[in-house]
This record gives sequence, structure tokens and C-alpha cells, in this order.
Amino acid sequence: AKRDGRGIVRVFDEGMDENIRLRRAIEGGLSQAIAKGELSLVYQPIVAREELEVVGFEALLRWNTEDHGPISPAVFIPIAEESNLIHELGDWVLAESLKVLAEWPGQYVSVNFSPRQFRRHNFVGRLVESVQRAGVAPHRVQIEITETAIFDDADRAADTLYKLRQMGFRIALDDFGTGYSSLYNIRKFALDCLKIDRSFIDGMGRERESAAIVHSIIHLGRALGLGVVAEGVETEAQLQALRVAGCSHMQGYLLSRPVAQDVARNIAEARFIV
Ligand code: C2E
Ligand code: CA
Ligand code: CA
Ligand code: CA
Repeated sequence: AKRDGRGIVRVFDEGMDENIRLRRAIEGGLSQAIAKGELSLVYQPIVAREELEVVGFEALLRWNTEDHGPISPAVFIPIAEESNLIHELGDWVLAESLKVLAEWPGQYVSVNFSPRQFRRHNFVGRLVESVQRAGVAPHRVQIEITETAIFDDADRAADTLYKLRQMGFRIALDDFGTGYSSLYNIRKFALDCLKIDRSFIDGMGRERESAAIVHSIIHLGRALGLGVVAEGVETEAQLQALRVAGCSHMQGYLLSRPVAQDVARNIAEARFIV
């Protein structure tokens, strides 16, 4: 392929170099981010449908670099995910998010775990050790995983989820509808809730297809006795439509943006979004 279209090959190569440089820079920066105190967590309320009671908060990682300002987790998490860096970051996120639970009256914290973290050797044992060390009840911790994490090796994943559920952890299937969902497999997994991906909520008012998918997920969740969380709720119209459709929980900018720890504590104490 390198023999034809020299120009195109050159441009392509330069693009690759640029990409690799950026990737290396991010990797290098990330490996020092914890020590430099550049990481922080923000917390976004998850509310119950009826009275908008705040039942939990999703912990979301932020990286504010000295040299380039904030970098989105959508950019750096996939890079960390390609190496063991994800474990360092993940351990930090978990330890940090367990600390805030002491400040909240009873809400849970919902923590994102990437596929590699979920498949890490002794994942369950490490998690149990972390909550014990922090003196936290497992039912106050929700584990968010994506379909990719569990459908690759479904039997092993089912086993891990079963153990976690037995220990009392809550399990949420994140970005539901975007991955390899197999309705056949979903029966095998011990889950507490499905999180409907933001792209479907966003499309709900415009496209019949998105609205149909949202309704199907809500029905599926209800039929299986699972909670259903709509993510990325931005408008009053979306909120009303989701309520009418019977969606049990919502999360999104309309209710609250992800906020710093002290603001989250105030919201937790107020208990309702007004
Ligand atoms: P996610 O788990 O699907 O998280 C939801 C994303 O949607 C967050 O983006 C959140 O800030 C954003 N969001 C919430 N409500 C709204 C809304 O109403 N409108 C819009 N436009 N966006 C909304 P964020 O914080 O940039 O995180 C991006 C992704 O990075 C996350 O997607 C998750 O996959 C990953 N991530 C974030 N923190 C962690 C972490 O601690 N560990 C791991 N493994 N992944 C993380
Ligand atoms: Ca999530
Ligand atoms: Ca999500
Ligand atoms: Ca997502």
C-alpha cells in the first residue's frame, strides 16, 4: 500500500505521528497526575422519578493539567485503558469516592469501571477490601460497567456480577443500547439497573426510532424488575416524557450538572431537586 499514492501515504503518516505524540504526552502526564494532585472527582445527582429525590451520585473523573488545562475523560480514559495506568486511576477514583459517603445522609455513589478494571485479577476481592478499609456498606456503592465489559466473556462476567451482588454491591449497566446487548444474555446477569445512553434521550423528541428505543428499554427494565436510569436529561419535555413512560430514575443537566464535593454534600442533605 505504501507504493501507491505517495502524497496520501505521507499525510497519513504525519497524522499517525501526531496521534502517537499526543497519546504519549497524555500517558506521560497521566502517570504523574495523581502525585501532582491534578485529578479530582465531580458528582452528578441521580434522582427518583416521583419527587426528584436524590438517591445517588455518579462520580466523574476530572483531570486539570498544569500545562494544557482540563482534558476530558472521554479522551484520557481510553488511553489509560490501554495500559495498567487505568488501574492506578481506578484505585484512586474508588478510594476518593468512598470518602465522600460519610458526608451524605444515605445516598449511594456510582463509580465507573472500565472493561479492563472489571476483568482485573481478583476484582471482587480488591473491591471488598477497599470498602472494608473505608468502613462503607457495599449497598452504598454502585458499580457502573458497560456492555463491552461483560459480553466478551459472558460466563466469567456473570460469575463476577453474581459475587458482587451477593456482597451487597449495586450494579448498573451503563450506556445501555449502544453495545452488543443480547437480550438472551441479559437474563444471566445480576443487575440492579440499566442506564439508557444519552444519545437516545437526546434523540427522543426528534426521531421516532430513539423514542421507540427509550420506551423498549424502560419496558424491558420493568419486566425484568430492574431500575432504569435515563442519562443526559436536558429539557423539561424529556423529563415529562420519561415520567409518563415510567422511567424510574433520571440524571442530567436539567436536574444538576456534575458538581464539586461540597456542593454535592449540600444537595445530598437537601435530598430533593427543586
Ligand atoms: P458516562 O459514564 O456515560 O458518563 C456520563 C457523561 O455524560 C459524563 O461526561 C457527564 O458529565 C455527561 N452528562 C451528564 N449529564 C449530561 C447532560 O444532561 N448533557 C450532556 N451533554 N452531558 C451530560 P464526562 O464526565 O465527560 O465523562 C465521559 C466518560 O468518561 C464517562 O461517560 C465515562 O465513560 C468516562 N469516565 C468518567 N469518569 C470515569 C472514571 O472515574 N472511571 C472510568 N473508568 N471512566 C470514567
Ligand atoms: Ca457512567
Ligand atoms: Ca453512561
Ligand atoms: Ca458514555
